[in-house]
Amino acid sequence: MSAIHANLQDVRGRIAATEKAANRLESSVSLVAVSKFHPAAAVEEAITAGQHIFGENRVQEAAEKFPALRASPNEIELHLIGPLQTNKVREAVGLFDVIETVDRPKLAEALAAEMERAGRRPDLLIQVNTGEEPQKAGIPPTELEAFIELCREKLRLPVIGLMCIPPIDDEPAMHFGLLAEMARRHGLETLSMGMSADFETAIRLGATHVRVGSAVFGPRPVTTPS
Ligand SMILES: *Cc1c(COP(=O)(O)O)cnc(C)c1O
Repeated sequence: MSAIHANLQDVRGRIAATEKAANRLESSVSLVAVSKFHPAAAVEEAITAGQHIFGENRVQEAAEKFPALRASPNEIELHLIGPLQTNKVREAVGLFDVIETVDRPKLAEALAAEMERAGRRPDLLIQVNTGEEPQKAGIPPTELEAFIELCREKLRLPVIGLMCIPPIDDEPAMHFGLLAEMARRHGLETLSMGMSADFETAIRLGATHVRVGSAVFGPRPVTTPS
């Protein structure tokens, strides 16, 4: 068994055990395997081991890595988990099944226009800056309600949930709890939260998607594969 296969089994086992301990339904949590910086060969290994949901944080890197993999008979679901520039919206709408990082009105408007033009509607999550960090992407919690209204009512975007990346130095549970509460209040069912270091905490607090990179693929290479 390859290291990636063994890691996947381990992570899946921990997800299942946490679902059970938290009285959550079996398989109610989806594992998004974050393959950023890892080569296509690593993704292929994960596919062979039964993984089919992947996360990438750059449009360009995903565009280079995934079309060939997609040509295989395996059904792949690709998530964008990194910041999206408006000039990459066309490519992103064509490539991703879920865009997790909708974080400003200008981007929401560009997505609405491109979906209309292309006739393709990836699911969307709104990234919330739960720690209100000035340098970090995401809608501040106080502006979320107005932003959801803009996305849903005015732009008719397929918003299905929320995602967050807690501040590195904070206790993540507080941020996961806050995100879950905001999703509940707005009737949003998808909650993308939790990474290698804290996905079990996120599952206990209601995550439906955990984004796990290094615990599946090992430490990331320093440079992007060419
Ligand atoms: C890289 C990344 C992850 C995965 O991080 P690990 O700590 O390697 O599991 C999850 N979410 C986002 C937004 C990322 O950029």
